[in-house]
This record gives sequence, structure tokens and C-alpha cells, in this order.
Amino acid sequence: MREITFIKGDGIGPEIADSVIAILDKAGADISWDIQAAGEAVIEKEGSPLPQRVFDSVKKNKAAIKTPVTTPIGKGFRSVNVQLRKELDLYANLRPCCNLPNVKTRYNDVDIVVVRENTEDLYAGIERQIDNDTAESIKIITRKASERIAEFAFDYAVKNNRKEVCVVTKANICKLSDGLFLDCARNVSRNYPQINFREILVDNCCMQLVQNPNQFDVLLLPNLYGDIVSDLCAGLIGGLGVAQGANIGKDYAVFEPVHGSAPDIAGMNKANPTAILMSSVEMLNYIGNSECGDKIKKALFKTLNDGIMTADLGGNYSCTEFTKQIVARL
Ligand code: ATP
Repeated sequence: MREITFIKGDGIGPEIADSVIAILDKAGADISWDIQAAGEAVIEKEGSPLPQRVFDSVKKNKAAIKTPVTTPIGKGFRSVNVQLRKELDLYANLRPCCNLPNVKTRYNDVDIVVVRENTEDLYAGIERQIDNDTAESIKIITRKASERIAEFAFDYAVKNNRKEVCVVTKANICKLSDGLFLDCARNVSRNYPQINFREILVDNCCMQLVQNPNQFDVLLLPNLYGDIVSDLCAGLIGGLGVAQGANIGKDYAVFEPVHGSAPDIAGMNKANPTAILMSSVEMLNYIGNSECGDKIKKALFKTLNDGIMTADLGGNYSCTEFTKQIVARL
């Protein structure tokens, strides 16, 4: 039996956590869960939304599933997500966006993988108030981080039989920072002659994505554009309720949905657990249990094909009822 950390956050976090644990246990994933609460609920008792014990647990188990964690605004805490990614050096954010069966969307056969740099850019959090009317944020791009994320994207493309990596920047305006990111991607691309290399500006990329998403394969982006473009891609395949994600580093990986804690539907049993379930399937692949992952995917796809869906996809199943239907199909 393998121990895996489960970081339980807030908002819809506990609801989708119960769902995914029930499904993985029923599928015979052979996992013992090391449940670690994080977020607003633990601040009062432990003085931080992300106590040290959470890092210790991920370091011990090497892999984790995480539900969204709200970072309280204006209380002086750094973003929990940013902290976790920085501290564990989870430098690659991988967000595959692929149509799901029977989920109605504008386009069919969308199959895009977003590879987002996860440790720097405007997320480095270097900001200052110059005076009452002026604030400054500093965008950090380094050769080291840009090269390793480009290598990650190309390696991913090779391993997963992808044909193209397209680097997305605004190098015509941010000539030095995005220019460096682009330059690194160009250099790395020369080591992968079997993969087509393409360059696009982020504004044009967004327009092309909504007009003709099928032209894209693997997208490689700095942190901020990656965040925005991956939400756009989530919209192409049915919304945040179905968009999976993973934060991967050399030593550890944390699997989490693209969406946030969705406070507007928290506690209402309305959340779609598909995004976290698909992220968990990736976790199973990561720990070498793809057999169980395939079984879960099959049961999920059968459920969707039978027209059983949560409200965000136009259905009328609650989170718990939807979960029960997947379990019944395992
Ligand atoms: P963050 O800044 O933490 O990413 P946010 O407020 O930008 O959070 P989300 O919390 O992801 O965004 O919510 C955006 C919208 O998507 C909300 O209306 C929310 O209800 C919906 N949503 C997000 N996740 C789900 C889900 N799993 N199932 C159904 N609806 C969801």
C-alpha cells in the first residue's frame, strides 16, 4: 500500500475531496491517505494557512492530491499555491485540455496540453508601493527556469507522441524578459528535431484558440500567460469543473484541479469533482498505477456518456449523486 498526501483546502475542497477519495478507494487504488488540512480553517489554530507539517508530508510521500485552498486577501499571507510550488520546486504546471465524452462544447477534438512555468514571472511577488498613486510589480524571468520548463515541454511532447511545441510570449513588448524565455525555448528546440517548433504572441494565441483551437498541440508559456491561457483552454472543453492539472518537480508532484475554491457554490453539494478526479488519474499514472487510473477514467466516461452530469455541465446531479454513479460503474 502506498501513502499519498491529501491536502484538503476550503470552499468546495472538502466536498470534492470526499468524492475523489471514495472513487479511488472503491477502484482499489491501494492508497493510504495522509490527510493534511490547509487554508483558512487552520489559520487560527496553527497561525498559517500552510503549516510546515503539509510540506513534511509531501516530502515524505513524494506525491499529493490537493483541493483548492483560499488565500485570505489582505491578511499578509502569501498565496498557499505559490508557496507550495516554490518551496517544493514544482517548476512545471501541466494542464491537459481534452474534450470529454458527451460534454457539449463549441469545438470537438480539442487536445491541447498547457505547460506553464510555475516558479517565477510576476508570481515572484516582488511588488512595492512607490507612492500613494503608484505601485510596481517586477517580472522575473531567468535562463535556468526558462530552459528547464522548455526541456520539460519538449520531453513531454516526445514521451506522449506529440507533434508540436508552440512557445507563447509577448516578446515584442517585454523584449528582455519574454525575449529571454523565447530565446531559451528556441535553443532547447534545436535538441528535439523530431518536434515541430512554433512561436506565437499571447494576444494572437488567444484569438486563434477561440477561432481554431484544433491547430494547437503543446503550448509552452511563462507563469502569468499560462494561468490565463489555461483558463481559456478550460473554457474550450466544458469549463473549470473538468479542467485537470499537475505541479511537477524533480522530486515531488502535487496534482490539483485548475479551478479555485468556488466560494459561490461551497457547501451546496453542486461542485463537479471531474477536474480533481482527472488530476488524480494523472497521480495514479505518476506513481505507476495506470491500470487503476484507466479503470477510473472508463467509469467516468461511461457516466458522462450516460448523460449523468453536474449542474455546471447542464445536468442535475449533485456532487454526491454523480460520485455514486461513477462508483456504480467501476
Ligand atoms: P481562484 O482565484 O482561487 O482561482 P476564482 O474565484 O477565480 O478562484 P473559481 O473558484 O475557480 O475561481 O471559480 C470560478 C467559477 O467557476 C465560479 O463560478 C465557480 O462556481 C465555478 N467552478 C469552479 N470550480 C467548479 C467545480 N469544480 N464545479 C462547478 N463549478 C465550478
